[in-house]
Amino acid sequence: MTENDLNPSGEFERTPGGAILMDGNRLRDEIVARLNERITALGNPHVCLATVLVGDDKPSQIYVRNKRKKADEAGMVSRHVELSADISQADLEAAVSELANDPGVHGILVQLPLPDGLDAERVLDLLPAEKDVDGLTERSMGRLVRGRDGHVPCTPLGVMRLMERYGVETSGKSAVVIGRSTLVGLPQVLLLGRKGCDATPTLAHSRSGDLAAICRQADIIVAAVGVAGLVTAEFVKPGAAVLDVGISRTAEGIQGDVDFDSVQELAGAITPMPRGTGPMTIGCLMENTFNAARMLGALPSS
Ligand code: NAP
Repeated sequence: MTENDLNPSGEFERTPGGAILMDGNRLRDEIVARLNERITALGNPHVCLATVLVGDDKPSQIYVRNKRKKADEAGMVSRHVELSADISQADLEAAVSELANDPGVHGILVQLPLPDGLDAERVLDLLPAEKDVDGLTERSMGRLVRGRDGHVPCTPLGVMRLMERYGVETSGKSAVVIGRSTLVGLPQVLLLGRKGCDATPTLAHSRSGDLAAICRQADIIVAAVGVAGLVTAEFVKPGAAVLDVGISRTAEGIQGDVDFDSVQELAGAITPMPRGTGPMTIGCLMENTFNAARMLGALPSS
């Protein structure tokens, strides 16, 4: 799909400072609607996302509810397994293994973090690569590193989809990713640097020194830290694309890593917070689940 297919008028919404607003809600809805069309066109085959929620953490409950709602809108079925916070490691692993072995389940999402005392790595190890729609297992990460087909972690994939959708040029451009977690920063760097995207990424972190000077060299900044307002105007080269992944719960409400008001004056494109990268994580989870059903032979391969 080309940019023109998505944006026939060639006009994007802009911030008061003139930056293109990379609207994640809108793109997520487009992805979900497109998946629904494709599933409908195939005669509504069974495509199933299983969600596993352990404990009663409120944000996790909301995330899982939203994921199931979007699966429904995409024409998929969701199966939900809710387990109490005091479940044993063995019982949790048994519940996840059951889903892993069920041919009627195509994607499995284990909502993280797990309550204290439960080992997430051992649970993730149980997921077959085809069903690992969060892209977090060592097999999925290995496939990403080796350039083989597999599921890419949803949040960094969402960042890539936003840049494609809003016409952010990546080839030959310099990028700085702030944050080096295996959930976001590390796969983000791999995606930016791989063939076809062809950016030149730098991975910055808490020991990087003069972060503002490092970021000012960049055409693309992806902030995945969790420090509210870390990225200010002094970090931003005029015209750069700035994508905010961070989420901090502060007294003033949920805030991103980017000081939106000052940065939008300089940036060429910017994600809002909320309705930027967050909804795209869910959109990409739906995309991965559709692809999981294809990998498992439940849908035609093209
Ligand atoms: P994480 O595992 O805590 O990693 C944070 C990274 O930020 C680390 O690499 C850390 O460096 C770096 N860092 C911390 N303080 C820094 C500073 N002052 N300057 C530069 N780097 C600094 O977090 P994560 O799981 O990657 O998540 C990052 C943020 O994204 C969080 O706010 C999380 O809530 C949010 N998130 C959002 C979505 C979404 O859908 N939008 C999805 C996942 C996560 P060191 O390695 O040196 O410690």
